[in-house]
Amino acid sequence: MLTRLGAIPRTELASVPTPLIAAPALAEHLGTEVRIYVKADDRTGLGLGGNKVRKLEYELAPERLHGVTELVTAGGPHSNHCRVVAAAAAQLGLRCTLVINGQAEDPTRGNACLHRLLGAGIVTVPERQDREPAMKEEARRIGVAGGRALVVPVGASTPRGALGYVRAAVEMHRQIDSPAHVWIFVCTSSGGTLGGLILGCALLDWPVRLVGVSADEPAALAKDKAVGLALDAARLLGQRGLADSVRALSESVVTTDAFVGEGYGAATPAGDEAARVFGARAGLILDPVYTAKAAAAMLTWVRRERIPSSDQVVFLHTGGHPALFR
Ligand SMILES: *Cc1c(COP(=O)(O)O)cnc(C)c1O
Repeated sequence: MLTRLGAIPRTELASVPTPLIAAPALAEHLGTEVRIYVKADDRTGLGLGGNKVRKLEYELAPERLHGVTELVTAGGPHSNHCRVVAAAAAQLGLRCTLVINGQAEDPTRGNACLHRLLGAGIVTVPERQDREPAMKEEARRIGVAGGRALVVPVGASTPRGALGYVRAAVEMHRQIDSPAHVWIFVCTSSGGTLGGLILGCALLDWPVRLVGVSADEPAALAKDKAVGLALDAARLLGQRGLADSVRALSESVVTTDAFVGEGYGAATPAGDEAARVFGARAGLILDPVYTAKAAAAMLTWVRRERIPSSDQVVFLHTGGHPALFR
């Protein structure tokens, strides 16, 4: 069942397995019998870690790097994805150009500071929609100069990148004592993480209840993106019946946009509260852009008793700490 996944080439970049941490004091504080775990993918290592590292293992597979001299990608001024791509480039001995929409404040802090520290060249464009053409132009410029660019799509949320979270699902399935009655809460934006988890659970025939908490877009769009990526990634595995299993599992996948607040990146009262609870009751640090909002959703579900007390919840920590220091 997992041999096809194992046969797909990747470049080892992540420190895995990341720990699955029990949070009994958090559960006690919430007054719930539900067992709560945190899958600490903030500890994937490379360039301060986070969920992008697992996706890049497949995006930057050795076969895709033949002759490549430079990685090109794009994001906002405080992009976690850009940080990890810049770190991967440096580790692999490649150059890196980041197309950034919008200017970082001066002095640069948080991820904007780290992009520079990791040696990336920065090209700024005014708007999000300017990123794609600018990446193409950078790739062309690199080619003219005798190099070769690999353009990494925003968020590395490609079918290939999603395979990183298929592996993560397999890892969690091995780590959890008894894999029955499990819910996984995860923040979703470009959809590769949730999409990979959907495919991974389908592949394992593991009936997890997945809850994707949107960081920006409407819930229906967030779900469509993730399911679409799961189906496309299933094709890479080429296993009969897998697409049907993905569709079946997708029926139980819930996405919510109720925790976005004023928009992408804007802190919310519920997110701030969740960050304080996770900090003081579990010793875990959340970021305000992604993980605090996903944690707020999880706390709400538990407090409203939407999760049966015999069940177990895994909160997937996707990283993002530099946003605390911007
Ligand atoms: C990118 C990111 C996400 C969203 O993951 P997607 O695969 O893009 O949906 C969640 N949390 C953090 C910290 C991120 O950097």
